[in-house]
Amino acid sequence: MRWSTGDRGNIQDMRGSSGRRGGMIPLGIGGVIVVALLSMVTGVNFFDVLGGGSSAPDSAAVGTTGTVNASPEEERMVNMVDAVARDAEATWQDRLGSRYESTKIVVFRDAIQSACGYAGSATGPFYCPGDRKVYLDLTFFDELHRRFGAPGDFAQAYVLAHEIGHHVQAVMGTDAQMRQMQRSNPGAANAMSVRLELQADCYAGVWGHDAAQQGRFAAGKVELDPGDAEEALRAAAAIGDDRLQKLGTGRVQPEKFTHGSSEQRMTWFKRGFDSGDPRVCNTFEQ
Ligand SMILES: [Zn+2]
Repeated sequence: MRWSTGDRGNIQDMRGSSGRRGGMIPLGIGGVIVVALLSMVTGVNFFDVLGGGSSAPDSAAVGTTGTVNASPEEERMVNMVDAVARDAEATWQDRLGSRYESTKIVVFRDAIQSACGYAGSATGPFYCPGDRKVYLDLTFFDELHRRFGAPGDFAQAYVLAHEIGHHVQAVMGTDAQMRQMQRSNPGAANAMSVRLELQADCYAGVWGHDAAQQGRFAAGKVELDPGDAEEALRAAAAIGDDRLQKLGTGRVQPEKFTHGSSEQRMTWFKRGFDSGDPRVCNTFEQ
């Protein structure tokens, strides 16, 4: 993947002021979304329930911080996240026009206070509907490589584009649609979650479709290299629920899926990627 360093206009850099309160139950990549959805559906902030009560954010944890001690590699990663976010947002601006509202990627270390409650690095990247921002601890990218066996910058970009996909769902009111379906069928919470997650995968693919067009790098945009799409598919497969469940418990329980199986995740990413059309991402009518 090729990209150019920009002005970090899409980044809210909280690395210098992340809290270290601890005590948050590690939720995993999928768990935080379930909790966010539960909170949205019920109006109760389950992050606070799990994290042991709401607390005021660190006084320093307001606004973007100035200097941070970071390696050149980490700084490069922040620039990459900024470039991908800008590019993915341009895709959605293009598809949705004035309906689209821009978002920010909050980059943090260790732990952070979001509108969805207190979250630690162990939660993995997440989207908070409460403040409509994406939260990312850069150490997740190492984990993606080492623990899930999905290296490569486009694998990282896919994860980010997936979270921005959740932002698109918030902007489009898909979360409200989900609440309505939940009311008519309370037993289907996990199934609803899977549909939202697969749609976010498909939306990540829609951006990938744009990024795969040639000549973009020369125009200052992100441009994929041959093999990048496979990187994303590998990442999608690596973080499928069946794979995560096997890593976690040694067995697979489809009724507990919250993100979808590896195969489903790859299929929906590819749908978006091949077409570039978000209308093919209607996982709710499948
Ligand atoms: Zn998700």
